[in-house]
Amino acid sequence: MLVQHSGANVARYRIEEAQVESELERLRRARDAVAQELHGMQATLPGDAPVELAALIDVHLQLLHDEVFRAAIAHWITQHRYNAEWALSAQMEILARQFDAMDDTYLRERKADLEQVVERVQHHLHGVAQPAKSPEDGERRILVAHDLSPADLLRYRDGAFAGFVTDAGAVTSHTAIVARSMGIPAVVAARGVSQRVRPDDWLVVDGEAGIIIVEPDADERLEYQARECALAQRRKELENLSAVPARTLDGEAVQLLANIEGPEDVAAALRAGATGVGLFRSEFLFMERRGGLPSEEEQFQAYRAVVEGMHGLPVTIRTIDVGADKPLDGANRSITVNPALGLRAIRWSLADPAMFRTQLRAILRAAAHGPVSVLFPMIGHLGEIHQVLSQLQTARDELAMRGVAAGAVRAGAMVEVPAAALLAEDFLQYFDFLSIGTNDLIQYTLAIDRADESVAYLYDPLHPAILRLVHGVIAAGARCGKEVSICGEMAADAALTRLLLGLGLRYFSMQPTQIPHVKQQVLLSDAASLKEWAGQVVAAQVPRLLLGAAPS
Ligand code: PEP
Ligand code: MG
Repeated sequence: MLVQHSGANVARYRIEEAQVESELERLRRARDAVAQELHGMQATLPGDAPVELAALIDVHLQLLHDEVFRAAIAHWITQHRYNAEWALSAQMEILARQFDAMDDTYLRERKADLEQVVERVQHHLHGVAQPAKSPEDGERRILVAHDLSPADLLRYRDGAFAGFVTDAGAVTSHTAIVARSMGIPAVVAARGVSQRVRPDDWLVVDGEAGIIIVEPDADERLEYQARECALAQRRKELENLSAVPARTLDGEAVQLLANIEGPEDVAAALRAGATGVGLFRSEFLFMERRGGLPSEEEQFQAYRAVVEGMHGLPVTIRTIDVGADKPLDGANRSITVNPALGLRAIRWSLADPAMFRTQLRAILRAAAHGPVSVLFPMIGHLGEIHQVLSQLQTARDELAMRGVAAGAVRAGAMVEVPAAALLAEDFLQYFDFLSIGTNDLIQYTLAIDRADESVAYLYDPLHPAILRLVHGVIAAGARCGKEVSICGEMAADAALTRLLLGLGLRYFSMQPTQIPHVKQQVLLSDAASLKEWAGQVVAAQVPRLLLGAAPS
């Protein structure tokens, strides 16, 4: 078990008497590392650096070595058995109050210096906060953090962790979605967990039930080991379904497509039996890049890798969808006060046409290597439709002028705001297909920030307003003879598969790990006989009550 902390949230736990010496040693090592870092900075200051800078580093070194400060922190550890991080922040809080009460402005400003020094030490403590005992063979580690960005999670794709637990987040936050796509149990919105568990505690993470057990007793361990075995067994059985076509009992073909974040997910999509990529969240290529946005060539290589990797199966690439809970650290844009309603998704792209066309050209070039659709996120206005289609044409013209090959693409819009759902039929005059992003559609219809755990209880895919909007979009697709898919989390929920089939949905896109579960439901369903019941569910005031009454 490893605890990772960020910002003001530091781990707080009491240590055993026998651990006092090693905790003091841990603190000493962190302090030495900071001293070394500061001396290094001093030694490498350029000749023309302002003298104040060298003086500032001196002040930081003095604060770091201040005997009174050191003794006070040691006191918290030895007398109160606080862990080092807690001791440091407890002493910082006391000093902060003293600084705030000072009349002298110069001295008051030293508070910021001390905070910086403390932050550096905390950072290094984090580095030396590995489990007191390193994991033994076969022992798996769980990452516990205050919060994790989707990009953080992607860094752990290599299977370094057997589970994730965070204080913040909500089930349809992108972080949770990425964790699910990795097939790793995760519990989000477990408030205060990162401060309560200790680096070598045993944890059980039950991602299905959203439960974490700290220091499970012998019975609980046995129970969860048995459950894990049963789950692995079921997964194996379901894997056998990957080659079976998804067809209902009455012969309706259903497309089960994959949601992916990058070329490295293609193998999992194929293993799961996906019949294409229904949503390539291209923004993950853009995240955490210090050196600016990826070039056309770099994007083209990534898109082509996916297209070729899918061996002729269709690939839908969504244009960059950033903002809200998916900040682009590498990009130089400010996030507005209410990011979910601000400059995000297609608005962000249209605000920078040159950047947008770079992406469109890369997509068009990839389309020369296999079937590609381009999907525009969060379209809400007819004006935006005209703009995206005109940018697409300009991107194509630019490639033609350069003599570079481009392929044909189908163009589609995501239905993520109620305005788009209500105008689905109008949208279909311009687009080849629609894809319902239920995660955002729920957020915007029910006015619930999907990343805010305090309102997560209101997040309800079975809210009658959501079902009616979804039904309306599917029906509009049928009337226009055009494809409608769902690529939000609703499509991945096997408990909703029959309902969506009954409403006429035939294109489901989800994280590959869910495909076998949804396929099993498809194989057991008679689509025609679900229709009437699905209509009743959508018309009901409390649809959930009818969900269990699906005809078999
Ligand atoms: C959605 O909103 O449902 C969707 C699929 O897009 P994302 O989750 O990436 O916002
Ligand atoms: Mg969305």
